[in-house]
Amino acid sequence: MSRRSDAPRKIKGDPIDMERIAIYPGSFDPITYGHVDIVERALEIFDKVIVAVAQNEEKRALFSVRERVAMIKEVFKEMPNVIADSFEGLLVEYVAKTNAKVIIRGLRATSDFEYEFHMASMNRSLNTHLDTLFMMTSKDYFFVSSRTIKEVARLGGAVEGLVPNLVVRNLKKKFKLPVPKRNEIGWDD
Ligand code: ADP
Repeated sequence: MSRRSDAPRKIKGDPIDMERIAIYPGSFDPITYGHVDIVERALEIFDKVIVAVAQNEEKRALFSVRERVAMIKEVFKEMPNVIADSFEGLLVEYVAKTNAKVIIRGLRATSDFEYEFHMASMNRSLNTHLDTLFMMTSKDYFFVSSRTIKEVARLGGAVEGLVPNLVVRNLKKKFKLPVPKRNEIGWDD
């Protein structure tokens, strides 16, 4: 005879027991406040967000993968439920190694849509258990992309307020521009 218990029965795969993990993949060359905003909002839905830097040989990057991951780690150092990582090869294969079921992507304008729609459809055809969740950019960052940030920073324009301060500093170093001392402006890191 089986013993009855008042404790709720645990069912394997019970959603209550499962940690909801999402993967946020991208180039993050470098991370911007547009990305940070998406991560913070995703944490309202998921228990853990893995920010995964894609090692893409085709795209010429300004920062190495190691530098990009290090910046992401630093930006989220106070948030243990944000993990910085990198991956090579197919995203679906990387996702399969984690317990994540959802890929997060940000959408800025209709121009993002077609590429994202194709990628999400392809990923779903490669793994039918995988879904892509699109989050709309916030009004403060719809015009922010890593590419424009790099262009503006290279020409000496101000990108403060659009990327974390450690990214401002690293951009200046990359472009051999004078780096303000920490006490000259209020670095947040
Ligand atoms: P990728 O090269 O994969 O597009 P990015 O680093 O440019 O990588 O972007 C990663 C993800 O973040 C993409 O889904 C992109 O649309 C999204 N994203 C980038 N900038 C913003 C922003 N300002 N607001 C919302 N989403 C953004």
